[in-house]
Amino acid sequence: MKTKLFVLAAILTGAVSLVGAEKIVGGPKGGRLLEADGQRAEFFVNPDRKVEITFYDDALNAIAPGDQVVAVTAEPKSGRSKVDLEKTATGYISKAALPDGDPYRVVVQLRAKPDAKPQNFRVDFNLETCGECKRAEYACTCND
Ligand SMILES: [Zn+2]
Repeated sequence: MKTKLFVLAAILTGAVSLVGAEKIVGGPKGGRLLEADGQRAEFFVNPDRKVEITFYDDALNAIAPGDQVVAVTAEPKSGRSKVDLEKTATGYISKAALPDGDPYRVVVQLRAKPDAKPQNFRVDFNLETCGECKRAEYACTCND
């Protein structure tokens, strides 16, 4: 009985982390997928070095942003700076390119709605290509 309960508990509570341990899901655009409060958002840096935040449903279809609030801060050695965003059909795009000097940390703060508790994601922004998964290092899906 104990074993059965344990298995059930593992299925109920561990499904997400079990999947996460085996395979990291990458963002459809090639960026880093951020998951918070049942929401999925992708942090992607396009060839113009602009940040694109895209919202997805459970099936990874891009969806229109609702009440989410997103704040992005770049933290290069030259000093941290807020990244100004503008709304798109499926999320946000930065008005300017990210500062040079990567790798450095970029913090993406997501709120489900304006008065919701913020969730911070620290992304090590590094545009070099991972030799294994061939994705940019900041969006690497390898397990190491
Ligand atoms: Zn990789």
